[in-house]
Amino acid sequence: MTYISLKSNLEHPKFELTIAHLYGDLMNTYGDNGNILMLKYVGEKLGCEMTFEIVSLGDSFDKERYDLVFWGGGQDYEQEIIADGSLSALTEPLKSYIEADKPLLAICGGYQMLGQYYVNASGHKIAGTGILGHYTENLRTDRFIGDIETHNDEFGETYYGFENHSGITYLSEDEKPLGRVVYGGGNNPDDNTEGLIYKNTFGTYFHGPILSRNSRLAYRLVTTALRQKYGQSISLPSFEEILSDEEKGQNITDIKRKSEK
Ligand code: GLN
Repeated sequence: MTYISLKSNLEHPKFELTIAHLYGDLMNTYGDNGNILMLKYVGEKLGCEMTFEIVSLGDSFDKERYDLVFWGGGQDYEQEIIADGSLSALTEPLKSYIEADKPLLAICGGYQMLGQYYVNASGHKIAGTGILGHYTENLRTDRFIGDIETHNDEFGETYYGFENHSGITYLSEDEKPLGRVVYGGGNNPDDNTEGLIYKNTFGTYFHGPILSRNSRLAYRLVTTALRQKYGQSISLPSFEEILSDEEKGQNITDIKRKSEK
């Protein structure tokens, strides 16, 4: 299902990206849908026509069709619904999508479901897609709730967000954390990690939504999608050219759209 109201309708687009919003009608806690708006904004600043489609229960996932995938967070209830629904049909095409280095961002419940399993707050083990190696146990009597800051030493980037989860996630050897925890809970109480990176797949417990508060990550995702589709050598405006002044409230340029008929 396409989000008609989110079509960019750019006057002279240089590029086009089609984004899958996995279970967008079910998994969208704490403003996670704001990530969709941020992806759209950054894409348009890069001259890209952005089209968003919900892929949910009963739909098939066409790995060739999508250039970027977003999967938001959910409560235990929705996670059980999708685990009992079409999750197994998603596994093979989504795995090949990920293995082909195409970009994906998964938040909280979506991040948990990308892995092996999630033990919910009642102690019930819910099967994940099994695509990635991480697994999620549960704090049971407590939750990690509050503001969180992490740092990614490789990218030299600091991330800010808000977390609210009872699942505690442990990464597999082929996964790296998205950041090390400066303050807050993160993946679990034991290893000071937060989130995951595997190829161009990013998982995190950050809501906020993460991309609106951390625009460098939004820029990384959209430019990765464009380079995967159009080639590594395409020339794109830098983050500084299109986004950093906006953090200070300056240089907010117009995006030219086709006139409404
Ligand atoms: N239900 C999951 C947990 O509590 C995920 C929560 C979320 O997506 N915000 O850990």
